[in-house]
Amino acid sequence: MYSLIDPPHEPLAPWLAARGLPAFRRRQVRRWVFQRRADSFAAMTDLPTPLREELAAAFRVLSSRIARHEQAGDGTEKLLLELADGERVECVLLRDDRGHRTACVSTQVGCGMGCVFCASGLSGLARNLSAGEIVEQWLHLQRRLPGDERLTHIVVMGMGEPLANLDALLPALAVASDVEGLGIGVRRITISTVGLPEGIRRLAKLPTPYQLAVSLHAPDDALRSRLVPAARTIGLRAVVEAADEYFARTGRQVTYEYVLVAGVNDRPEHAERLACLLQGRCVLVNLIALNPVPGLPYRGASPASVRQFQGVLERSGLPVQVRRRKGEGIRAACGQLRRDRRESEPPVAGSAATSELTAAPGAVPAYATPPSNAPAAVGEPPENAGSKLP
Ligand code: SAH
Repeated sequence: MYSLIDPPHEPLAPWLAARGLPAFRRRQVRRWVFQRRADSFAAMTDLPTPLREELAAAFRVLSSRIARHEQAGDGTEKLLLELADGERVECVLLRDDRGHRTACVSTQVGCGMGCVFCASGLSGLARNLSAGEIVEQWLHLQRRLPGDERLTHIVVMGMGEPLANLDALLPALAVASDVEGLGIGVRRITISTVGLPEGIRRLAKLPTPYQLAVSLHAPDDALRSRLVPAARTIGLRAVVEAADEYFARTGRQVTYEYVLVAGVNDRPEHAERLACLLQGRCVLVNLIALNPVPGLPYRGASPASVRQFQGVLERSGLPVQVRRRKGEGIRAACGQLRRDRRESEPPVAGSAATSELTAAPGAVPAYATPPSNAPAAVGEPPENAGSKLP
């Protein structure tokens, strides 16, 4: 049985052609899947019944299923999806009071980057996701929204390193930004990377570039190598140079993410060195206190250290944003739900059931609000007009 969603070469078009059926049927089916959120061919009532039956015999509308669903008090929802081969990935829906409905998606099962504080990479990389498996995460999340709401933003900040799977991510994002797909403008799509220079350069060459976020986490190579092992062979300079090129080529302000780990990278001297490193660049620094991962020996920086760190950066003139924590209580940082023993519990049926969990102290997802330089609305002011922080 084929997966219906498999960009860039969707199997539906040749399937219809082989049967001498008109090509517009493909558009009809896609409209049902992307706009009307149908989860079965039977629901596609403007298709002839025999065609619906034939389609149902040949294709699966979605190849993944929800193995677990959790909802936090602030409306954040996290899904653990089971893929056709039994592997599992997480995706998250974030809601805010500006009406943003942000989907945070994974690009790999596990991760090969080995960031020492991250749950996703604890068991290494299992495999890349296909483009269809990435798109399906949006479709599952979109179905959590009431009919009059739609996904407005995408952050590629879930499990995995997006730039290590660009061949699948780019066709998936093309569907996300296509008006016949999800219709989410490229300025509302942020890709977060550990900083793979070649991948950054490839992104910079796209005709319509996405927002770029680089996970820096340290102001020098020695410390960064400890926190982000994949960075050992790359070096901070190469990462910052590639990001500079990204800005020069696309005009898009780059966000640097910095996870504050208590006693490791959160001291004022780290902030001073970071300010030196980024001085004179049109960038935004996104600070977030680490979400502790059970079994790992790291704690999040205290609110006082976060404020102090922020103050040093601000005094040096760098735009800084402290990321708001979202999803208290739903199994913390990226990759944690997949590792949680409760993932073996029975699946949630359909879209009706949600489990409102009580907040567990310290459990905050890595997924936070998207960078504030991801513009809010169509017709937004031009980017890089300097600091546009609230
Ligand atoms: N591999 C990509 C995208 C996935 S991780 C990247 O490195 O950017 C998305 C963000 O979450 C990264 O900035 C990552 O460092 C951060 N992150 C991972 N684990 C975290 C944790 N326990 N607490 C806070 N942020 C975390």
